[in-house]
Amino acid sequence: MTVIEVEDLHKSYGHTRAVGGVSFEVARGETFGVLGHNGAGKTTTVECLIGLRKPDSGRIRVFGEDPGRRRRALARRTGVQLQESELPDRIRVVEAMRLFASFYDRPDDWRAVLERWDLGPIGGKAYADLSGGQKQRLKLALALVGAPELVVLDELTTGLDPVARRETWTLIGDLKASGTTVVLVSHFMDEAEELCDRVAVFRRGRIVALGSPRGLVAETGTGSLEEAYLELTGERRDGVEA
Ligand code: ATP
Repeated sequence: MTVIEVEDLHKSYGHTRAVGGVSFEVARGETFGVLGHNGAGKTTTVECLIGLRKPDSGRIRVFGEDPGRRRRALARRTGVQLQESELPDRIRVVEAMRLFASFYDRPDDWRAVLERWDLGPIGGKAYADLSGGQKQRLKLALALVGAPELVVLDELTTGLDPVARRETWTLIGDLKASGTTVVLVSHFMDEAEELCDRVAVFRRGRIVALGSPRGLVAETGTGSLEEAYLELTGERRDGVEA
């Protein structure tokens, strides 16, 4: 079953073309990576997917529905961790977990999620008093507490220390094993190589390559996704930023 369908998506901000004709599909249970340099159009694309932005043109379906029209219904089935999202300074960790769990029909036990993400000991702390890594882990826990069928993660492990990063990968592995569909926006090629079934490489608002990490490595005759990425984005040849 196809969970996400994107066909010829276009989105500009004034004269800036953020996304210029992007098409891809994501199957149920797949972990799909959205890769690309800063400004390549990744966040704009995922924001259109979850109904936060209105495309200029193109067709998007998530669980067969148009996110522009059915945002609320889709939000109940989707967990989202966005780069920019912030919580009120004074909200405590446990309060945020309880609140987010209440948005969903069949949430996980939020106390168990809190423990899984090692947030139990700081459950009484206010959001503003958390470290960057603790905030990041809380945002992930909040994205997952509703036991969503689809999870959209923008910059999964940014700001995490190496141990927390590895632990996060393990937890995402568990999520995959449970059949959850994951869209992962990332700058980290090791992360994409480890976690993603397929990746789309964005450059200047377009997808320049789409395939499994292993397939892209083979296609480019390189030794890793990192090298394949540099080849595919043209960084190797001309050093041009997207
Ligand atoms: P990053 O890796 O830096 O998060 P990205 O691939 O997610 O980048 P987008 O955030 O989608 O890229 O941005 C694509 C282009 O659209 C960039 O040129 C950016 O400056 C521009 N852009 C994004 N959001 C806005 C906005 N709200 N108003 C104007 N321009 C925007």
